[in-house]
Amino acid sequence: MDAVNPRGGWIEVITGGMFSGKSEELIRRIRRAEIARQRSQIFKPAIDNRFDLKRVISRDNRGIDAVVVNNAAELRSSLLFGVKVVGIDEVQFFDEGIIDVCMELADASVRVIAAGLDQDYLRRPFGPMPGLLAVAEYVSKMHAVCVRCGGPAHYTQRVAGGNSQIEIGDGTYEARCRVCYEPYQATETSADDSREPRDVTITR
Ligand SMILES: [Zn+2]
Repeated sequence: MDAVNPRGGWIEVITGGMFSGKSEELIRRIRRAEIARQRSQIFKPAIDNRFDLKRVISRDNRGIDAVVVNNAAELRSSLLFGVKVVGIDEVQFFDEGIIDVCMELADASVRVIAAGLDQDYLRRPFGPMPGLLAVAEYVSKMHAVCVRCGGPAHYTQRVAGGNSQIEIGDGTYEARCRVCYEPYQATETSADDSREPRDVTITR
């Protein structure tokens, strides 16, 4: 998204399933903004500890420094003066307040680029994503490659773990297309009885 009103702000959402290149695309856009000498900041929620707490790292291992925040209000209070571009990774983990923050920023002539999962492992709209997608000027739906058939994958298939909405761990998910997607049910041997805060299970 490079050619829009240079004086105005706007919201871009990069969305899709896991393994679809959302973080790579976010990093690409932020790097271009930095080359254009636009002051930028990138945020991520504290919940995502997959790789490295302080960096947004795509699966091809290209990283960019990020500010880790606990919620939308903390993001707002962490903004630098004069910032022109704000990137947000894993935006689906934020509270609904993130929509208002994105709108305030865009209204204040800031370019907002938010990347996140559109659906959870049961294909339910994820967290604040429906509202964010509705107010965004630009939406990029990314597709992964289905591990079963090689077609474009629209879904994140859970293949291991419990029934929490958020489960973080290697080998827990696969990209699947509509034909190959199967609703996941945890088996009785899965450790899904432990109700952790925010319904999160992290297996590593
Ligand atoms: Zn498939």
